[in-house]
Amino acid sequence: VGAAAVASEDPRDDPPIEIYFLPFVGGGHQIPMLDMARLFSTIPSVHATVLGASSPRPLPPLPASITVLYLSDVELDTSLSALPFTDTSHLAEPLRNLLVDRSPDCIVVDGFHRWSPAVIDPLGVPRIAFSGNGCFSRAVGDAIRRAGVADAAFDDYEEFVVPGIPDKILMTRSQLPQFQRRPPNPGQEKGKMGPHNFTEGCFGVLINSFYDLEGVYIEYFRKEMGNVRSWVVGPVSLCNEAVEDKLGRGKTADIDKDSCLSWLDRKGENEVIYVSFGSLARMSTSQLVEIAHGLESSGCSFIWVIGNVRAEERDEDWMPAGFEERIARTGKGLLIRGWAPQLVILEHPSVGGFLTHCGWNSTLEGVTAGVPMVTFPVTAEQFFNEKLVTDVLGIGVKVGSRDWSSWSTEAKEPVGREKIERAVRRVMRGGGEQADEMRKRAGELARKAREAVEEGGSSREDARGLVAELRDRRKLRAGGSSILQGD
Ligand code: UDP
Repeated sequence: VGAAAVASEDPRDDPPIEIYFLPFVGGGHQIPMLDMARLFSTIPSVHATVLGASSPRPLPPLPASITVLYLSDVELDTSLSALPFTDTSHLAEPLRNLLVDRSPDCIVVDGFHRWSPAVIDPLGVPRIAFSGNGCFSRAVGDAIRRAGVADAAFDDYEEFVVPGIPDKILMTRSQLPQFQRRPPNPGQEKGKMGPHNFTEGCFGVLINSFYDLEGVYIEYFRKEMGNVRSWVVGPVSLCNEAVEDKLGRGKTADIDKDSCLSWLDRKGENEVIYVSFGSLARMSTSQLVEIAHGLESSGCSFIWVIGNVRAEERDEDWMPAGFEERIARTGKGLLIRGWAPQLVILEHPSVGGFLTHCGWNSTLEGVTAGVPMVTFPVTAEQFFNEKLVTDVLGIGVKVGSRDWSSWSTEAKEPVGREKIERAVRRVMRGGGEQADEMRKRAGELARKAREAVEEGGSSREDARGLVAELRDRRKLRAGGSSILQGD
């Protein structure tokens, strides 16, 4: 080995780029940011540090190459009813002290730490915003707000075309988040309605997505939504290669891995539909009943994560008589109460479909696993993600959700069992040529997702691009300060 090669690998010559990550305190926001930390830590010359909010509630295990620091020992309310409004502002002081002390090359911050720009930006540490969403949903939300089309609709259920975006997308006012049903403020300038005020003044935005999935919407985001710099680096879940990493994602699974996998091993290829509503979902009793009947009468095998039923609910309030015994006896269904090892399940060859609430992480994980989806959006930007999956990508069937609602309120009207049965059949069995086509497209997208994160792929290149920018910035500053010193 030549001396030069040894010298160039000596970290003292070129200290690693220090990237700090401040994830939110739980749910679907924490998981992708921890994945991002893993992803950047695989780039030589980067050192990733994850900042945990609360040491009594430790973060899930991370690779030894990642440093974990806790900002506080205050116990936080991360109950389902508190998220995503958990107040983390007591972290402001410890964060400021840490940044002053260590001066990292940048810090990636979740948008739910709403107080953080006021702390970080004055220190001159580049702040990179992360919101967890994809670009299609941002574009559709933006286009609707600008044009005021929702307000012009005759009533909550009249369909309108979303103007100014590359695909023909139909929506109803009933499917929009509450805050997006209002017309835009008069005089609001184009480009000022960024995805979130959180991006104002930031160094850039990190996005969990990939070009082959929604390239034109990534462009839309870049051109039309406030001109922030962005790096599209997903699907970040793909950085979990070992089964242990997939299992430890988010929380510890409430089902033994082997019993889950051996149940799946007994099934044929693409025979099982996986049913989950994400980390925050709390379905009403009336909706649970319909799902149970719909799944059973579809005749398909299923894994159903019912971990997030409302605390006050008892099984007998919603479960059809004999349901659990029946599905256990016939081997038709497996219920998971609590946390499911979602990635491990989705990637099993027996899983051939995903009934999902269309949270962005789940949507991407479904895409990455190459399974067609039954879309069952409930809240947040999930109705937009549904349209991407079904109307743009053609890899899913809508269950027929009509009304946006928050998890804490009862949906207006549950989606009926017939609709659920029909949609599941169309994706799983009896879907004929249409189902075959969807499956083919889903497989193709899964392949592209993997390509994106491989060396030379678009996401890997974007991640490296950010690191290169940070390195240039460091050099510039070092140059600047030596000039100053020289003066
Ligand atoms: N998840 C999981 N097991 C569960 C429920 C959720 O691993 O039982 C993970 C899932 O893989 C995804 C995240 O939690 O990464 C949920 O994020 P998503 O954006 O889909 O939905 P949210 O929870 O934000 O509504």
